[in-house]
Amino acid sequence: MKIDCHMHTPLCGHAVGKPVDYVNHAASVGLDLVTFTCHIPMSQASFGGPRIRMHADQLTTYYTWVNEARQLGETLGVEVLCGIEAEVSPMTEELTEMKELMRNEPFDFVLGSLHHQLSSYKTWLIEQRLESDASIIRDYFSHLTDAARSGNYHSMSHPDVIRIYGTIDSDAFIPSLFEEEIRTFLQTCASSGTCMEVNTSGLSKGVFEVHPDPLILDWAKEEQVKLTLGSDAHQPGRVGQHFDKVIPMLKEKGFDRLQYFSRGKEQTAFL
Ligand SMILES: [Zn+2]
Ligand SMILES: [Zn+2]
Repeated sequence: MKIDCHMHTPLCGHAVGKPVDYVNHAASVGLDLVTFTCHIPMSQASFGGPRIRMHADQLTTYYTWVNEARQLGETLGVEVLCGIEAEVSPMTEELTEMKELMRNEPFDFVLGSLHHQLSSYKTWLIEQRLESDASIIRDYFSHLTDAARSGNYHSMSHPDVIRIYGTIDSDAFIPSLFEEEIRTFLQTCASSGTCMEVNTSGLSKGVFEVHPDPLILDWAKEEQVKLTLGSDAHQPGRVGQHFDKVIPMLKEKGFDRLQYFSRGKEQTAFL
């Protein structure tokens, strides 16, 4: 069963193509199931405005579009689910409203992302006087660990995205130097039952590597972490991107299954 559990819609202001277009592409590349996960509404400006995420008023449009895509999917043999990409932040009080929304809305699937490039996290780094690349990387993984433990998210998305977008010098991210912090994160995923995402978008940008790095995937296998898989498509043609390369790599590393979530319930897709 081929699945892609991370993709966007133009409601976030930086993606193109309607959900039906994403589903058409999914069918053309042989996917059996897709989950939309557009960026969750956040009222604070520090988490980005209309070029980053939809407004809460647009959720009804989101559901309408995903429903249209679901109907199209039924004719094409592609199951369509409706998730959301939620935020992880060290300023947990800033997430109160978001968590309320997550409780009240009927999302199939909730991703947890720490978007370090947003001003909310930049402000945190300044307040905490975290300046060296190493201290920022350790800090970043400590928040992912807390988030995995929180039970607020089904899967932790693009877990080493700290390596791109300029918060640190990307050469500074050498996973083996941070094995202790990263293993703590992985062990927390395993013990809490939170999945980790394999996000193929990294192969199209920056350092041209899958998120997380293949070495982290080796550790994830050892720690028995469950995986979800997503393209992070922001345009229809990216749905399922690089799966032809990444799925064989996962199998080679000993993974034989992926998880996905329907109405919040975990399901298994065998590779
Ligand atoms: Zn996005
Ligand atoms: Zn995304």
